[in-house]
Amino acid sequence: MPTMNPFATPVAAHFADTTMNLPLTPPVAPDVLTPASEASLPLAWQTLEAVPDPEIPVVSIRELGILRDVRVVTNASGTAFEIVITPTYSGCPAMQQIAEDIDAAMTRAGLGPWHITTVLAPAWTTDWISPEAREKLRGYGIAPPTGTHAVAADAPRKITFYGRPKDGVTCPHCGSTETEVVSAFGSTACKAHYRCRTCREPFDYFKPY
Ligand SMILES: [Zn+2]
Repeated sequence: MPTMNPFATPVAAHFADTTMNLPLTPPVAPDVLTPASEASLPLAWQTLEAVPDPEIPVVSIRELGILRDVRVVTNASGTAFEIVITPTYSGCPAMQQIAEDIDAAMTRAGLGPWHITTVLAPAWTTDWISPEAREKLRGYGIAPPTGTHAVAADAPRKITFYGRPKDGVTCPHCGSTETEVVSAFGSTACKAHYRCRTCREPFDYFKPY
């Protein structure tokens, strides 16, 4: 049996300030739930806007355009929050984690009940990433996507594949455009890996689509 490392941070402490995994505080008892209503809707927005993207924790799912809407809906089974999300791309492995993070955030806030609705159309585009989030990506060392698709929200979108990444993406570290593609895929499938010839730092580029 390994000896306990006295300097190791308890596992739970790693997760104390994230919405991932188990919070340190016990789950809120059902009898103190704040029910879904127009009055509690701002709290639901505030709670969900703070949920970070699991792959790029400096930006929230709201800033990335994944969280599309929060509303109060009433049907035969009662009144609930409806949380509308759009996956960044089909098959994105982060979506299950995002759903779990939403569940954890709502539970911790004592809000409920809720359900998550996934909306595929219009398809998510990097155009939806907010200007603030683009700056945060740059600060995090990820070159934000360039250009826009300028597709009307209700227009049908063709599935297109991102072409071969081009050299010359602006380096998020030093601002140089003397950069070159190392790999079409970076730390995740939605990013390409680059190297800067000026400052010699590697970086990921969030591919536009
Ligand atoms: Zn550079």
